[in-house]
Amino acid sequence: MPVRIIGGGLAGCEAAWQAASRGVAVTLYEMRPVRPTAVHKTDRLAELVCSNSFRGDKLDNAVGLLKEEMRRLGSLVMRAAEESRVPAGAALAVDRERFAETVTRAVSDHPLITILREEVRTIPPSSDRDPVIVATGPLTSEALSSELIRLVGGDHLYFYDAISPIVLAETIDRSKVFRASRWGRSLRGATPTGPACAVDDGEGDYLNCPLTRDEYERFYDALVTAESATVHDFDKERFFEGCLPIEVMAHRGRDTLRFGPMKPVGLLDPRTGREPYAAVQLRQDNLAGDHFSLVGFQTQIKWGDQARVLRMIPGLEQAEFVRFGMVHRNTYVNGPAVLADTWQVRSKPTLFLAGQMSGVEGYVESAASGLLAGLNAAALSRGEPVTSAPRATAIGALAYYVSHANPAHYEPSNITFGILPPLSQGSGPKGKKLRNLALSERALRDLQEWVDARASQAVSAVSQS
Ligand SMILES: Cc1cc2nc3c(=O)[nH]c(=O)nc-3n(C[C@H](O)[C@H](O)[C@H](O)COP(=O)(O)OP(=O)(O)OC[C@H]3O[C@@H](n4cnc5c(N)ncnc54)[C@H](O)[C@@H]3O)c2cc1C
Repeated sequence: MPVRIIGGGLAGCEAAWQAASRGVAVTLYEMRPVRPTAVHKTDRLAELVCSNSFRGDKLDNAVGLLKEEMRRLGSLVMRAAEESRVPAGAALAVDRERFAETVTRAVSDHPLITILREEVRTIPPSSDRDPVIVATGPLTSEALSSELIRLVGGDHLYFYDAISPIVLAETIDRSKVFRASRWGRSLRGATPTGPACAVDDGEGDYLNCPLTRDEYERFYDALVTAESATVHDFDKERFFEGCLPIEVMAHRGRDTLRFGPMKPVGLLDPRTGREPYAAVQLRQDNLAGDHFSLVGFQTQIKWGDQARVLRMIPGLEQAEFVRFGMVHRNTYVNGPAVLADTWQVRSKPTLFLAGQMSGVEGYVESAASGLLAGLNAAALSRGEPVTSAPRATAIGALAYYVSHANPAHYEPSNITFGILPPLSQGSGPKGKKLRNLALSERALRDLQEWVDARASQAVSAVSQS
């Protein structure tokens, strides 16, 4: 029997690729298009439902380290991201369609992977030789959600996230915005394969809308009095802290946005030679360069009011919205109560959970959990030992966090250096950036040792069988 994987999103596709790359047959179940979700728009595997960014891509940044580890572990998601890369400063952002198409093609063309387009309503039986991975994401279908509640007990939770609006490029007033990357950190032309595409000839990867103090004050007043789509009492809703709607942030204080998504630091307006009072960054959202998203501007303001308020931003007075910001559901289990750091369900080790519903947050983290679940499911099926990634790697630290955080207050987490063990006291350089680089160096060394050890375990398992 093959490894069965339910859910053809980022985690499921990565898991399928990893297992199949180790010679294990895989059946991948994806319910779209037979049964759509409230948010996915296509029938492609690994569709990115919101931002086109995989976030930072440098080793002084924890998600940059996680990505580098995934590359070294042969990640399909990372390969597809490189192939569909668009300019985004120090971040890795992609053309969504090309990305999903690349993953879909690679998975469909793999001779050991069979894709079945159907909704899985019950968790299939699993055994050592026939493990199952559930990776059905934040929008897990209702029938399967009920099954999961039965399996994991009462620790099945949900809360809400909110997503950013996208505007049509030709409707941005270029005379008011300026092109720049924060601190001039552009990756343009610096990718291993050269630039994935070119937008304008200008310098910098972001279009920046500068606001004077008066403009900011007017925008702020309009924002905090705008009509919210669903929520008036912010305290009653549970948002993920890294993805707060702008109006929720604004309610925390008049200047909160100027230290968050509207922070002007590192953005010199060439017309004044100074940083503006506040700035909104627009990031190219597709290869054609005709869509730009408002960075960090996830919101749940009603669409009519949303257009009115966002058009107060200089440069967006005539903006046409390709997509408005909105609120969405997010389903996940209480990781520490349910999972081991191998992504196996503690009470049923032949069953794995991966991706967002396992209690991680974000595209990269979801794919990373799928990567390890796929490796371990393949090992189980081949009679090899299941292993945890080293604790000092980003991929291992994420697994450790999900399986060992306090279950009483569990919140899904993005990868951060804070969940890696610190460098030993007194060792390591001074300064945050250099310390982060030292953590990355240690992680990549540990990762290599782990990869080598797994390879020799696999060889000895084969020679004993
Ligand atoms: C509206 C929205 C916006 C988001 N925005 C961002 C963002 O900007 N950045 C970010 O990093 N993360 C974002 N997230 C989180 C994002 O979903 C995850 O980071 C990532 O997609 C999770 O990958 P996954 O593989 O776990 O789930 P998914 O990519 O959602 O894949 C799960 C797959 O399982 C399928 N499925 C569900 N139930 C069944 C079933 N019963 N049988 C068969 N197939 C099934 C679904 O159709 C889907 O294809 C957002 C989530 C939502 C819902």
